[in-house]
Amino acid sequence: LVARNFRPGWLTVATPGPGVLEGMTGLFERCGLHTVCEGACCPNAAECFALGTATFMILGDTCTRNCRFCSVSKGTPGTPDPGEPLAVAEAVRELGLRHAVITSVTRDDLSDGGACHFANMIRAVHRLNPHTTVEVLVPDFKGSEEALAEVLAARPEVLGHNLETVPRLYKQVRPGADYRRSLELLARAREIAPGVVTKSGLMLGLGEEFGEVLAVLDDLREVGCAYITIGQYLQPSTDQLPVHGFIPPGIFAHYREECLRRGFKRAECGPLVRSSYHAASPDAPEVDL
Ligand code: SF4
Ligand code: SF4
Repeated sequence: LVARNFRPGWLTVATPGPGVLEGMTGLFERCGLHTVCEGACCPNAAECFALGTATFMILGDTCTRNCRFCSVSKGTPGTPDPGEPLAVAEAVRELGLRHAVITSVTRDDLSDGGACHFANMIRAVHRLNPHTTVEVLVPDFKGSEEALAEVLAARPEVLGHNLETVPRLYKQVRPGADYRRSLELLARAREIAPGVVTKSGLMLGLGEEFGEVLAVLDDLREVGCAYITIGQYLQPSTDQLPVHGFIPPGIFAHYREECLRRGFKRAECGPLVRSSYHAASPDAPEVDL
C-alpha cells in the first residue's frame, strides 16, 4: 500500500488526442444528455470512445442517496424526462456504439425507483440499434423485486450492480445502502432472467483488507455474478472521503488472478479501472448466455 498523501505515477494517464472529447461532449450537450465519462472527467474517455463504449447517466443529475465517495449532486431531483430514452438511443446510433452502458442516480423519490424509465431506455436503444448490446448499471431499488423484474423484462444483455466496498465499510462509505440487499439483487436477477449476465464492481483504497475483498469475491460468485471490475478509489474533492491508500498495479494483478480462479468470466482489475471500463473490449472472453 502506498501512503495516501503521495499520488503514485501509475495513476497518470495520457491526455486524449485533440478533438476526441470535444466531439463527444458537443453531441451530449446537443442531445441534453449526461455521461459519466465527461461528468466524472473519467481518465479512460479517449480509450473507451475509441473502443466504442460510453456510459450514459439517466434520470437526472441529482441523487437521493449520499455515498461518501461520490461527487454527484445530492438533493431532490426533478421529474424524469420522458424524451430521454429516445435521445439516448439516437446518441448511441450517432456515435455508432456497439455497447452502450447506462446507469443512473438513485431515485428513492420515485415509486418504482426509475425502473420503468430504465426499461423504456433499453427498449429504445435496442429498437434503434439492433446490433448494440446494452449494459445497465442499476441502483438497488430499495430491494424491490418488482422493479428489478421490470428492468430485466426489457432484456438488457448485462445487468450490473456495484457492491463498491467490503461490508465492514458500508456504514461509513455507503450510508443508505445495505451489502446483503445488494447481493440479493444480483441473486434475484439470475433467478428472474438466467440469460442475463450479471456484473459488479469494487473500489479499493478505502481501508479494506485483502481477505475482506476475497470474501466479497466469494459472495459474488455464490450469487452467479460473471463479470467484475476492481479499481482504485480517487477522492473527487475534499468533500468526499480521503483515500486510505493507493494499491500498486501488482496487487491488482493478484486480485485478477483470484477472480479468474473463482470462475469470473471477465475481470478488469487495475488502478484506473471503472465499472464500465473495457465493457465492450473485443478481446474480453465471451460468456455463455
Ligand atoms: Fe466512460 Fe466508463 Fe470508459 Fe470511463 S471507463 S470513459 S465512464 S465508459
Ligand atoms: Fe453517487 Fe450512486 Fe451513491 Fe448516488 S447512489 S451518491 S449517484 S454512488
